[in-house]
Amino acid sequence: MSLENIRIVLVNPSHPGNIGAVARAMKTMCLHALHLVTPVDYTGPETRARAAGADDVLADITCNKSLTEALEGSRLVIGTSTRTRAIPWPSLEPDVGARQLVAEAEHGPVALVFGREKMGLTNAELDQCQFVVSIPANSQYSSLNLACAVQVMSYEILRASRQAQNTKTREWHEAHVPLARNEDIDRFYRHLQEVLEEIRFLDPENPRKLMRRLHRLFNRACLDENEVNILRGILTAVQRHGGKRAC
Ligand code: SAH
Repeated sequence: MSLENIRIVLVNPSHPGNIGAVARAMKTMCLHALHLVTPVDYTGPETRARAAGADDVLADITCNKSLTEALEGSRLVIGTSTRTRAIPWPSLEPDVGARQLVAEAEHGPVALVFGREKMGLTNAELDQCQFVVSIPANSQYSSLNLACAVQVMSYEILRASRQAQNTKTREWHEAHVPLARNEDIDRFYRHLQEVLEEIRFLDPENPRKLMRRLHRLFNRACLDENEVNILRGILTAVQRHGGKRAC
């Protein structure tokens, strides 16, 4: 099983103790790859104390300047959130999300993204996720401590990987073409926006929520490498024939 392909990404963690506790939560569940996006200084004693022996996970932490950088190479990106939003993101139960991560990790890196202790993930960050997982909780008090949320999801991932070892089936994505990498999908969205502006479908002065809705649509499809290439080809053809209307 390719648990080493599963990255846990923490965006702007602000408590060194939480980073240590996340390392411990991961190691107990056989996960190792911890990516941080612009974290607090975590080199003090509190981090190691809370890591309680997961020093190898701490030693191998990768620090990134942006979420995009942390997701480089990832073929499936799942965000985590307590909140329901104006445009609901396609959501999965924790066990289903974990199964998808485990299945896709057979083919390359995948990422599970956690938000800031105070304010979670921004909508723009969730735009980079194909799915969002919410851990079922008290509707009046649903926000878990960051490391507790990582523990619950890491447990689901370990369970899913043990089940997959037993069945060796790939349930959700029938085609054997690997999913597209995050950076290729990002380039596709930028290309799409460029074309929509060129054909005046998208007004940059008044974009409304069009790009967000389109992110949602395409993320739901979990585009594979071939599909992204086809879409990029269509956009290029539209640009080549710019201005000429089909009758
Ligand atoms: N006040 C923040 C909560 C942040 S808790 C908010 O309203 O979003 C820090 C992070 O832990 C969250 O961004 C999320 O990644 C994770 N988390 C906490 N509780 C969760 C839950 N019930 N389901 C999924 N993720 C959760």
